[in-house]
Amino acid sequence: MTPDELKSLVRAIPDFPKPGIQFRDVTTLLADPAGLKAVIDGLAAIARPVDADLVVGIEARGFILGAALAVALGTGFVPVRKAGKLPGKTVGIDYVLEYGTDRLEIHAGQVPVGARAILVDDLIATGGTALAAAQLLREQGAAVEMALFAIDLPELGGMNALKADGVAASALMD
Ligand code: 5GP
Repeated sequence: MTPDELKSLVRAIPDFPKPGIQFRDVTTLLADPAGLKAVIDGLAAIARPVDADLVVGIEARGFILGAALAVALGTGFVPVRKAGKLPGKTVGIDYVLEYGTDRLEIHAGQVPVGARAILVDDLIATGGTALAAAQLLREQGAAVEMALFAIDLPELGGMNALKADGVAASALMD
């Protein structure tokens, strides 16, 4: 499947979650058997040479792609969640949004010191979420070998911000 064919499976929903925002909805892509397989195969082809120990997915759509990618690569999967969602003892990081701050958490001890991790989310916009997740993993002593996304919104600069932070980053479509 070409990037254009993949892209045609993603819907743009106007004015979600607020007026003026065009939300790129990947549920239509996930629901398409050939599309879902093409995304996971595409991400796995980029990730495989890295030979990572662990896939880390960002809430919530990063769980779907990340878990499937982990199975394809033969690694385990660790979820990064918004504050207060994980039941066990957590470690977290606060990060700045356009208005206010947010917090990401993982279960303490679930990312081993020295782990070589691949970070996954459905979409990168400004990169704020992925940068915070990468920092949280580094604070646990892990190396973020790569960050992978189905979609990049290049005009928002997230990929460049990740690369400036020393993280190799790729997406399957823009
Ligand atoms: P960033 O932190 O890079 O500005 O925003 C990326 C995060 O917001 C990701 O977790 C992503 O899932 C979510 N996000 C922002 N805009 C969109 C969008 O248009 N579509 C989807 N599917 N996710 C979005």
